[in-house]
Amino acid sequence: MAMKSNSLEKLFVESLKDLYDAEHQLINALPRMADAATSQDLKRNLQQHLDTTQEQTRRLEKVFQAFNEKPSRKKCVGMEGLIREGEQHMKDMMNDKDALDASLIADAQKVEHYEIAGYGTVKTYAQMLGNQEAARLIDQTLSEEYATDERLTKLAESHINIKAKS
Ligand code: FE
Ligand code: FE
Repeated sequence: MAMKSNSLEKLFVESLKDLYDAEHQLINALPRMADAATSQDLKRNLQQHLDTTQEQTRRLEKVFQAFNEKPSRKKCVGMEGLIREGEQHMKDMMNDKDALDASLIADAQKVEHYEIAGYGTVKTYAQMLGNQEAARLIDQTLSEEYATDERLTKLAESHINIKAKS
């Protein structure tokens, strides 16, 4: 499949706006998730990821700049759905704190996987467009999302999922 470079650049910028909005939505949602978490490890993880997420929005602004674009948001309906579903789970699990923590991890991981898919795609686009600076910045965020996902898996496996089972 061959795509004209201006079509690809248009698609790239649209995808950046989507990610920029998704990260902003997460900045609103993560504190609520951290508040809801009962495991101190999990709470700390979610709070740390809030800091990382704030850095990631600033990094996206640099990616926009690398393409001479003004940073702007376009509503990410996918992230909105993931967050809404997560909030429903928090309500449903309110009276069972072990299940609540396990469910928070599961929902946080869905968010990370969604971000990994999004950033993986724009990294490829940036490379195809020959913008190494943008590709490098995106790759930094991509690594952070992978690391977060791995930390959440470790948390789940080390105690939280087992606690919910007993
Ligand atoms: Fe992120
Ligand atoms: Fe993330």
